[in-house]
Amino acid sequence: MADTVRADAPEEALSTCRPVDPLRALLEGNARFAAAWIQADRASAPASRSRALSRLWRHNCITTASTLVGGQAPWAVVLACADSRVAPEWIFDAAPSDLFVIRSAGNTAFDDAVASLEYAIDHLAVPLVLVVGHSGCGAVTAALGSAPLTPLLSELVAPIRASLQPGDDLQQAVVHNAKRSAAELSAKSDLVQRALTEGRLTIRSSVYDIASGKVTLLNV
Ligand SMILES: [Zn+2]
Repeated sequence: MADTVRADAPEEALSTCRPVDPLRALLEGNARFAAAWIQADRASAPASRSRALSRLWRHNCITTASTLVGGQAPWAVVLACADSRVAPEWIFDAAPSDLFVIRSAGNTAFDDAVASLEYAIDHLAVPLVLVVGHSGCGAVTAALGSAPLTPLLSELVAPIRASLQPGDDLQQAVVHNAKRSAAELSAKSDLVQRALTEGRLTIRSSVYDIASGKVTLLNV
């Protein structure tokens, strides 16, 4: 697809990049990533690691710069943590214009995140939102702890603390926080709620495991 796009038809070119099943496309991209990630982890030399990772980015709809100048056509919103190990395009083996990414420490549904989501739904007709929590999350660790935080960091961890259940360990807290973020996205926005009701939008939550590279969907 990539080498057949015409620079004078960006919308047409980008629309061909939209998968029929966005959730399946994300999971298939993650499966490609996880396989390369594990293979690279097992490689003994830097050159072997590079070879393993060079298998990524071969299955995407790679668009040209001149096409992207004309617009974007993302097919999924990813709400992820700001953690440097959880880069969405990387873990889903996705290309520019595929994912509309919203990030903050703890992947919470903060107001600006919901507003960004409203834009993605209203102006870009994005049909899927995936909230991605992750193993070893520092923001969730902070929410579980009692160390003093700055006023702004206290504000940031407040919704994470609200998602916790008694006795949660870090892994359980990450799951509860991801599920709460997914629920908050619709609770905070009539536009998001309407898109869900009309069947134009699906919201799911998930957890990314840094060790294995795998994203696991959570039950709704
Ligand atoms: Zn995190």
